[in-house]
Amino acid sequence: MRTLGVFELTGCGGCALNIIFLYNKLFDVIQLYKIKEFHMASSYREEGSLDVALVSGSVSTQRDLEILRRARENSRFLIAIGTCATHGNMQSSLEGSMEEKLERIYGTRDNYMGALNSKPIVEYVKVDFAIPGCPYDKDELYQALILLAKGVEPVYKDYPVCVECKLNEYECVLVKRGIPCLGPLTVGGCNAICLRSGIGCIGCRGPLPKGVNPAGEARILKELGYDDEYIRNKYKTFSGGGLKW
Ligand code: SF4
Ligand code: SF4
Ligand code: SF4
Repeated sequence: MRTLGVFELTGCGGCALNIIFLYNKLFDVIQLYKIKEFHMASSYREEGSLDVALVSGSVSTQRDLEILRRARENSRFLIAIGTCATHGNMQSSLEGSMEEKLERIYGTRDNYMGALNSKPIVEYVKVDFAIPGCPYDKDELYQALILLAKGVEPVYKDYPVCVECKLNEYECVLVKRGIPCLGPLTVGGCNAICLRSGIGCIGCRGPLPKGVNPAGEARILKELGYDDEYIRNKYKTFSGGGLKW
């Protein structure tokens, strides 16, 4: 039987909870994997090597960094789950020095919790596979775990949300209704679920690493009447501040 560990860094906890929300499918997972560590689900913990490590959350404290390094050292295949882990998410887009941030939020420059400037995990360790989303699509994780148990590596989605939007024949809310939509810049894989309800994509799966045109989208948004501040805030929400034009 293969072995699995789940590691939680700084985030809302939703991405770890999403594993429990696999419900019946979780029984398939535990038939294929022995779970040696999963803090949210159990106090049981077993030391030793892992076939697969799932890491959620961003590195925002010294403790996060230690947990991440332990997960990497002990695992053969490490998957970043959720946009905090893959892109840094909103906590990584906070600007200013650590002292300024501590003072602004806690009223003191005292860094008693060992806070670090928040970053996605790929900034510190090699990541073998990434499933972005806030939270990620749990079926994507399920499929990846089943494939890995069969010895097959899952394939990273490297196309924008627009591709799935068009395959589903949804109306383009950006072009037809002037609604801001970050689909052209955002990693696909969610089956354009927001567009199914006519809601513009807010970019929760983070930006594609290449082949996108943030300046082009900013130009369209400006033509629709949105100002620089609106676009800047929209771009930085999930990207960890990495999406600029
Ligand atoms: S990616 Fe979203 S859902 Fe997941 S831990 Fe971060 S904030 Fe929570
Ligand atoms: S609605 Fe958004 S995701 Fe769909 S095609 Fe238009 S820009 Fe792309
Ligand atoms: S459409 Fe955009 S905001 Fe909605 S789930 Fe997909 S990536 Fe996230």
